[in-house]
Amino acid sequence: MVDIQKTSNSKIDKVNFDDLVFGQVFTDHMMECDYRDGKWQKPVIKPYGPLSLDPSAKVLHYGQAVFEGMKAYKDKDENIWLFRPDENFKRINRSSKRLAIPEFPEDYFFESLNALLKLDSEWIQKGFGNSLYIRPFVIATEKGVSASPAKEYKFMIICSPAQAYYSGEVRVKFSEDYSRAADGGVGFAKAAGNYGAQFFPTNIAKEEGFQQIVWTDANAHEFLEEAGTMNIFFRIGDKLVTAPISDRILDGVTRKSVLQLADEYNIETEVRRVTVKEIVEAAKKGELKEMFGSGTATVINPISGFGYKGEKYELPKLEDSYARFFKDKLMKIQYNEAEDKFGWRY
Ligand code: PMP
Repeated sequence: MVDIQKTSNSKIDKVNFDDLVFGQVFTDHMMECDYRDGKWQKPVIKPYGPLSLDPSAKVLHYGQAVFEGMKAYKDKDENIWLFRPDENFKRINRSSKRLAIPEFPEDYFFESLNALLKLDSEWIQKGFGNSLYIRPFVIATEKGVSASPAKEYKFMIICSPAQAYYSGEVRVKFSEDYSRAADGGVGFAKAAGNYGAQFFPTNIAKEEGFQQIVWTDANAHEFLEEAGTMNIFFRIGDKLVTAPISDRILDGVTRKSVLQLADEYNIETEVRRVTVKEIVEAAKKGELKEMFGSGTATVINPISGFGYKGEKYELPKLEDSYARFFKDKLMKIQYNEAEDKFGWRY
């Protein structure tokens, strides 16, 4: 069902897999599927290369664009694995629907993704932490600047090899003025504009010495919601707390998996709204033991401190950190080094 046009000119020999900058190098092929005349046409896998778009294409004017982020892993026996890709597939269609983009057929998605990964399998390096970052996305390609949903789109998948990397100490700022999403808005969607709108406030936070912002609700900036590309967990005492999914928060695949693993290993969790006030107080009393972000890029990203209203708070360094525990459990499942009770590997 997928039309395959192989490159005769692989770039792989020019790539230094020991010195990769995230998201800079792309594999030899990409998937492209057009929507026109009311339906998705045949997916095509072709050599990676630039697109030609009309300058009036709607994506360029009205931001009708959504995307996903997932990874492929290679085990010791050269088998290639995805982690819960059905979740990413469902999520891109939820995102599309919110942006008035037609949903993509499941069989097109999986058949073309499988074919693409087979063709570019050499680009997936073995070794714990190495992976192939997969970026499916949809853009409105129809020309015309009338502010209405497009009738033509492109669904594409591009892939970029990623190295195991140490994310360093991450300090976050609790947002006091800016917000990422509002009730009834598009926060739950991986809409391109959600990310573009975060750059400016995140730059300000960076100038103040933080790497990321933890977004608060748009009303009173009272509740902690999620970070730039991660959901957020707080360990208060031995309890793990995270905000519930809502129309402002991305339903993270990693977050969902952490909660399921916590249940499995009898770690008490609470999914409820978390206030800035309680976290500041818990930090002052020494009850806030850990904070970490969860997301496909780094799996689990420990957070070493946070800032709020000009004060900086440092978190203790723990021997028995939940962050390390969940990262290890998840990665062993992803790399086929542990049993997969939940059936997450694909
Ligand atoms: N929140 C946001 C805003 C994100 O962009 C991401 C990355 N997709 C996440 C959370 C984490 O989601 P996942 O675990 O599915 O990568």
